[in-house]
Amino acid sequence: MSDVRRAVPRTDTVLAAPELAQAQRRLGRALVKRVVADAQRRVRAGELAPERVVDATLAALPDTAAGSLTPVLNATGVLLHTNLGRAPLSEAAVAALGVAAGSCDVELDLGTGARGRRGRGALDALAAAVPAAGAVHVVNNGAAALALVATALAGAGAASGTPREIVIARGELVEIGDGFRIPDLLAATGARLREVGTTNRVHARDYEDAIGPDTGFVLKVHPSNFQITGFTSSVSVAELAGLGGPPLVVDIGSGLLAPDPLLPDEPDAATVLADGATLVTASGDKLLGGPQAGLLLGSPGAGADLVQRLRRHPLARALRVDKLTLAALEATLAGPPTPTARALHADPAVLAERAETLAARLRAEGVDAVAVGSEATVGGGGAPGVSLPSAAVALPERYAAALRQPERQPERQAGRTSVLGRLEGGRCLLDLRALPEEADERLFTAVRTVATGGADG
Ligand SMILES: *Cc1c(COP(=O)(O)O)cnc(C)c1O
Repeated sequence: MSDVRRAVPRTDTVLAAPELAQAQRRLGRALVKRVVADAQRRVRAGELAPERVVDATLAALPDTAAGSLTPVLNATGVLLHTNLGRAPLSEAAVAALGVAAGSCDVELDLGTGARGRRGRGALDALAAAVPAAGAVHVVNNGAAALALVATALAGAGAASGTPREIVIARGELVEIGDGFRIPDLLAATGARLREVGTTNRVHARDYEDAIGPDTGFVLKVHPSNFQITGFTSSVSVAELAGLGGPPLVVDIGSGLLAPDPLLPDEPDAATVLADGATLVTASGDKLLGGPQAGLLLGSPGAGADLVQRLRRHPLARALRVDKLTLAALEATLAGPPTPTARALHADPAVLAERAETLAARLRAEGVDAVAVGSEATVGGGGAPGVSLPSAAVALPERYAAALRQPERQPERQAGRTSVLGRLEGGRCLLDLRALPEEADERLFTAVRTVATGGADG
């Protein structure tokens, strides 16, 4: 046995150190053991002194057992970044998650001790946020909401047992992202698609000609991630409602509940219901700024009856949201403005000031940083073509990779916070629009850590 091998402290001895015993209670023995093994390897490789194994293990341990998820500061300028989990939750929603994580009265009436309506708080908050709705329901995500409606009204699971048709415009057979195609989802329920119009144009008479005894419902989908311009025409919700007949389901996508003057082309639930839609479907984690969820809002009368039917459909149980989602959704709806709303309505002058301050502080640390104007977008499959004036700190391009990978940074005291910027014109831009002002200090620390760590020379 070589001297080095003999010097490697035994696993049992290391794990018995009081600091590591405590870490094992928090993170589990298996995880701590893996980190210890890594430190022992470094001793064998001559990279670590044997007496430093406990310290090195402690330094390398993650804060939580969910060690593979790294917090990322979204400096991309894309407000709802799909790869970063879309909407960041508000502090109120995060606090609500803590309450819901334990046992809670999600389905219990504490007054009577009897079973209560599951998620009533979230459902009441959603109903209160959209007074035009006669009934509401929440499922796993926007796709689940569509799948439930299509199954119940036109799929193999429809009451009649025979698949029926969904009348939909050709220009609305959209792909949302990562290969998710709405027509494929609808067809998977067993429903038949009755496509009307052409890619660029559809008229009320196209729908009229297609609607018949086989029609389960008419579906209007918001093409949320692209625009068709030029020789185009589509049929408005009000016109479609005017045709009468089968239920009119409108998938608005982004979950905007009321009109937002900043996004004049983005449909909202209140307006679409007022225009005569029977049912509106939307996502919870796009412009609504909440957890992943699918919202179903029915008009008073026929839409409310439909929502009740959907709630009782056998598939509804498989698409049910958990207590964490219900808690976060309620806090999102009833609480203070979400980070998404704050980012959307941020004052460009304030963003510019933040960029100037950050760049000046970084220059004082020797970083080649300069404040620049920038253009942010909504993202997450919403508000295509909308550009939001923003401000950024521009750094040399080489910062991008080091900022993204905090574990490759030489100093770890800033915590495992990754920063995702945007490459533009040969520079790494840190766009501030998607970040709250409270994040500026962490952003500063992360950049300075990279700069002073010699990671980039
Ligand atoms: C995003 C989106 C969906 C899918 O919603 P998820 O919550 O991602 O399942 C469906 N339709 C439209 C129009 C969308 O924009």
